[in-house]
Amino acid sequence: MSAVAKVSDITVPTGLFVGGEWRPAAGGGAFDVIDPATGEPLCSVADATADDAVAALDSAVAAQRSWAATAPRARAELLRTAFEAVAARERDFATLITREMGKPYREAAAEVAYGAEFLRWFAEQAAHVRGDFGPSPDGSYRIITTKQPVGPSLLITPWNFPIAMATRKIGAAMAAGCTMVMKAAQQTPLTMNLFAEVLAEAGVPAGVLNVVTTRDAAGVSKRLMADPRLRKVSFTGSTAVGSTLLRQSADNVLRSSLELGGNGPFLVFDDADMDAAIDGAMVAKLRNGGQSCVAANRFLVQRPVLDEFTQRLTARFAKLGVGDGMDSGTDVGPLIDGKQRDKVAELVDDAVAKGARVELGGKRLERPGFFYAPTVLTEVPRSARVYSEEIFGPVACIYPFGDDDEGIALANDTPYGLVSYLYSRDGARALRAAEALESGMVGINRGLVSNPAAPFGGIKASGLGREGGELGIEEFLETKQIALQV
Ligand code: NAP
Repeated sequence: MSAVAKVSDITVPTGLFVGGEWRPAAGGGAFDVIDPATGEPLCSVADATADDAVAALDSAVAAQRSWAATAPRARAELLRTAFEAVAARERDFATLITREMGKPYREAAAEVAYGAEFLRWFAEQAAHVRGDFGPSPDGSYRIITTKQPVGPSLLITPWNFPIAMATRKIGAAMAAGCTMVMKAAQQTPLTMNLFAEVLAEAGVPAGVLNVVTTRDAAGVSKRLMADPRLRKVSFTGSTAVGSTLLRQSADNVLRSSLELGGNGPFLVFDDADMDAAIDGAMVAKLRNGGQSCVAANRFLVQRPVLDEFTQRLTARFAKLGVGDGMDSGTDVGPLIDGKQRDKVAELVDDAVAKGARVELGGKRLERPGFFYAPTVLTEVPRSARVYSEEIFGPVACIYPFGDDDEGIALANDTPYGLVSYLYSRDGARALRAAEALESGMVGINRGLVSNPAAPFGGIKASGLGREGGELGIEEFLETKQIALQV
């Protein structure tokens, strides 16, 4: 394995980034990164062992004290420089994202812009961390509160938003003064490696960010989380892995932030602006080919507008261009790998076997890579797996409801609670519904809720904590009380 790879015309480091230097894995191991549009390897990257990960933690621990002591303004300036550097290399990042992850190039470019905005947002936050000062109630002493960085943190990200999921964590950790070991997803290491290089060029000191790529995520995380020097784990991924990590966090009582899976309802009330609802449905369902934690998983449509919604959504799905994300006519790219494509096929087949009606699609596409046809299902019984499991593919399932209470009850009929969407022209009705929906985020007449300035996160089985917004930095800060006798 060489130290760098050429993907399209972009040179990307392929090693482990430890203590400010790129190095091979200790055992010399490597694994292939696959282009999901073709199923062919793009290049290979280092396969870290748990020992490599400990070396990365050594480096994070060594850098923690000086990074925490670095002036907030200086950390802010570094983040601001990184924001500009990522924006300047939008084409390179977008190309890598499309090649290793599959999403259409214009969506990849939008992700780079969104991801870069976290760096700008946290640059603005870094110098605004505040404490408090006041008298004790009996007046005999003073209570001071101050914020300090949690300390060395393990960050674990998924493959579906390779740069945005990284900047959302790294931006907050850097602003708070924490050093990091980042474990990026196996399928999308190249975007993270380029980002690590860009941060180093921006002047981020050695050891602040360390990056390991590995096929042994479980072994690496277990070893690091058992190390008492690690103080926090911040994870984005599936609920199954998140709850394993929460259990693993218990021994050393690690601060834990978990952004997990969803089963998002998308409610269309009978007074909805139907043009807006269809546009919102396309975004909420098809961003990233449906491979998004905030994807609309269940379309719940009030009976009087059920036929219109179904016909119009099906007509829009029928016009979608499916193909390689690098082609300009592509609206929906491949799924991330064969396993995910097979899972989507299984969910659809299960629903159809239980009585669902296929309005459109319902099959894999016979071509190289991991493609599944945009699909619309109606008359889906609640016993179908697709009703309760995250689909992560371009499949829209439509369910009818009667009155508002029934719609809300259906929406809440899931252990997940990440996001809900609802469409109604009546502001009071929409607000009543939003307050009753059991999710960390609600989009009213919008199919997109993600914004660096807004707190992102779920309730119930969708996670703990918030990323972005005013709260994102707090996940990486401890509050200390100082009692001062006067
Ligand atoms: P995943 O299988 O949970 O993997 C996520 C990350 O965890 C990857 O880096 C993975 O490494 C790592 N991992 C896997 N097993 C691990 C273990 N035992 N210990 C430590 N790390 C481990 O999820 P995914 O399939 O990549 O991503 C899809 C899921 O993420 C969906 O459920 C989606 O809803 C959720 N998601 C949530 C948000 C949010 O903000 N709430 C955002 C995006 C995605 P490998 O790559 O090596 O397997």
